[in-house]
Amino acid sequence: MRAMVLNRPHGGLVATEQEPPRPGPRQILLRVHACGVCRTDLHVVDGELAGGKLPIVPGHEIVGRVVAAGAAVTRFKAGDRVGVPWLGSTCGTCDYCTSGRENLCSDARFTGFHLDGGYAEYVLADERYCFALPAAYSDAEAAPLLCAGLIGYRSLVMAGDARRLGIYGFGAAAHIVAQVARFQGRELYAFTRPGDDDARRFARGLGAVWAGDSDRPPPHPLDAAIIFAPVGALVPAALRAVAKGGTVVCAGIHMSDIPSFPYEILWGERSLKSVANLTRRDGEEFLQLAPQVPVKTSIEKFALAQANEALARLREGRITGAAVLVMQGADA
Ligand SMILES: [Zn+2]
Ligand SMILES: [Zn+2]
Repeated sequence: MRAMVLNRPHGGLVATEQEPPRPGPRQILLRVHACGVCRTDLHVVDGELAGGKLPIVPGHEIVGRVVAAGAAVTRFKAGDRVGVPWLGSTCGTCDYCTSGRENLCSDARFTGFHLDGGYAEYVLADERYCFALPAAYSDAEAAPLLCAGLIGYRSLVMAGDARRLGIYGFGAAAHIVAQVARFQGRELYAFTRPGDDDARRFARGLGAVWAGDSDRPPPHPLDAAIIFAPVGALVPAALRAVAKGGTVVCAGIHMSDIPSFPYEILWGERSLKSVANLTRRDGEEFLQLAPQVPVKTSIEKFALAQANEALARLREGRITGAAVLVMQGADA
């Protein structure tokens, strides 16, 4: 099988021929049909996250069909369409796992980071962490739901019942969250890179009542803000944009350092929190909600061999919506 492999950070992905892996007892082998390109993949490729496996096949927004199953597999059978997310496995016994917070498990293994992911023609996954996917979405359309969608949804839940919601960074996650937020009757304020007219237009097209530069204040104080851009300087900016009692949610796995800021912008019972990973419950909830909204994903398609190009475009902020690698055989 062909796989795009990261041998060392900054080295780019290398097209490699490998033997398809064989499933263990609770694993399924999937023929990959589509795999989303997430900002986290960029952090992996750029060596910004510690503790991953090398060499590694990135990719954790995987849509595939089951071609083989281990002896103890019960949830899926050959031919089923399955989604594989970032959370690849957990210990199942620690305080986090046993209290509904498996996303925080210290022994969690993540797809495309500890476990080979979906930038390949085949991938293994533990069936207990996979999802059935809503039929309304093609393979390519469904892929971004699996991280941009799930993590975006968890971030939105963390923002509480905020009516005026700000979003910093209008990429794959934001474009999905915007649709859910509007469905829930929230007012959406989009902050984009200064001068990024395309992103502002895209945000307005998704129902933002206001779209402006991230270094400018919104027209009204917000009830909450979610930061998807990996830019620490946005944290004080977002704290300044929220009203007393407001919440700022940092949704990315990595961020540049946060500059120091005066206590007065946190004072007034504002709160600042991060979102880490996902639980399987987040996935079940979001994948049920998405077709009701209905969330529509805007995607740019790339071939597997173009993975480096897709990552470069994402790094430069030149993707509208979500980038997706689409393999042969996908019902895209
Ligand atoms: Zn655990
Ligand atoms: Zn992701």
